[in-house]
Amino acid sequence: MDAQYRTSQPHIFAAGDVIGFSQPGSVSMEQGRLAATFAFGSTAISNPALYPYGIYTIPEISFIGKTEEQLTDEDVPYEVGVAYYREIARGQIRGDTTDG
Ligand SMILES: Cc1cc2nc3c(=O)[nH]c(=O)nc-3n(C[C@H](O)[C@H](O)[C@H](O)COP(=O)(O)OP(=O)(O)OC[C@H]3O[C@@H](n4cnc5c(N)ncnc54)[C@H](O)[C@@H]3O)c2cc1C
Repeated sequence: MDAQYRTSQPHIFAAGDVIGFSQPGSVSMEQGRLAATFAFGSTAISNPALYPYGIYTIPEISFIGKTEEQLTDEDVPYEVGVAYYREIARGQIRGDTTDG
């Protein structure tokens, strides 16, 4: 596989779990989008530096970018915002009272 997701067979492209370890669905989807774009001859795109992550739990969890630990290690100032699940509409409608 090359950087454009082309396999050793030049007319076959591959993306997602089939090319390596299991990875977040968002990464597989973006790889598939890029592979399709490359398959149609585009060269003016590159892999994104950041991917969003979604964890299929209840409630769902998602994140993108650096963690607090990484920012602290790099001396980058940051602010933390917290929204408790019990305080948002979905949590209230479902009657969930957990703090997550
Ligand atoms: C238990 C589990 C939990 C996960 N939790 C998360 C999570 O919380 N968040 C997250 O982001 N990711 C999660 N993942 C990972 C995510 O689901 C996968 O990485 C993602 O679905 C990979 O997408 P894909 O398109 O590469 O493969 P798939 O989604 O597996 O798609 C491959 C498709 O190819 C089809 N196929 C297979 N063989 C053939 C064939 N010979 N001919 C035609 N079709 C064929 C299959 O039926 C399937 O539909 C989880 C994975 C597992 C196993």
